[in-house]
Amino acid sequence: MTGHILALCGGVGGAKLAFGLARLLPPDRLTIAVNTGDDFEHLGLHVSPDIDTVVYTLARLSDRVRGWGLAGETWAFMSALGRLGGETWFNLGDTDLAMHVLRTQRLRDGETLSRITATLGAALGLSHAIVPMSDQPVRTVMDTDVGRLPFQRYFVGEQCRPVVRAIHFEGAAQASPSDALAQALSRQDLAGVIICPSNPYLSVDPILAVPGVRSALERVAAPIVAVSPIIGGAALKGPAAKLMAELGVTPSATAVARHYQGLLSGLVIDTIDVGETAAIADLGIAVSATDAVMTDDGDRLRLAGETLDLVRALA
Ligand code: GDP
Ligand code: CA
Repeated sequence: MTGHILALCGGVGGAKLAFGLARLLPPDRLTIAVNTGDDFEHLGLHVSPDIDTVVYTLARLSDRVRGWGLAGETWAFMSALGRLGGETWFNLGDTDLAMHVLRTQRLRDGETLSRITATLGAALGLSHAIVPMSDQPVRTVMDTDVGRLPFQRYFVGEQCRPVVRAIHFEGAAQASPSDALAQALSRQDLAGVIICPSNPYLSVDPILAVPGVRSALERVAAPIVAVSPIIGGAALKGPAAKLMAELGVTPSATAVARHYQGLLSGLVIDTIDVGETAAIADLGIAVSATDAVMTDDGDRLRLAGETLDLVRALA
């Protein structure tokens, strides 16, 4: 297959597939557009959790046991912060801090998040394009049974315990896609779009909420293929299944297919869900069933390869 691949990606789940894609495709054939709805200002710092997860994962610096942040991290800053009575609900590791400090400084100097992400990624040896979905602020906000919560208050502060009634992407209407995302969407040689196995509601919907993204995807001639983050009716990690249930959707691969209906031409599901093939095919979506759990680098490469195979088969 020739041509360019655009991947839409959140944090931990998406980054695993993005890692595989980046191993299989040269830098000039892959754009990884990342959710920034999770971004927030904390202790005066601009934190971009999903971008950092993707950057650290591709740079092989992420902590695989904890599931987020840097391997070998230390926490002296957090304990000193706590001693002084500062806010400790959101953990910032000692070495991770450098990323947030530099990003914040450069944003204050007027640089775009796109440019900052590119230069910090390059400094870590990355040559693939990891781009924010937008250079304007879009902030995910949760309507819950305990009131309206900014995303990180819900996700980290409350550990996703509140019951979610609705999700909003504040600022989305005024935002526009980053230049790199807009360019990828309009490339003549776009060979496929891959929606990584990220949380559909919290990681992919914010990207689709940026004006022009969904309509551009609807016009894209190339296949759009997703990898289901729901396996056996559950999320491997995080609140995706809980959230679906709270929003009145039975969590399943079919529900993921339905969520992306109108965009998808193919969905990669786990073999455990192969019984859902007919239901998904009824939505006009081709199915490829495989081991969709990525435990090691081999899995990441294999699943990325199988996802590209489905893109190719649907071209
Ligand atoms: P976050 O931004 O860090 O919360 O991460 P994402 O939104 O990118 O990913 C969260 C989703 O990834 C969850 O719904 C998980 O079920 C899914 N996920 C995590 N690991 C895997 C995996 O190995 N395979 C698949 N198919 N999904 C995964
Ligand atoms: Ca995230």
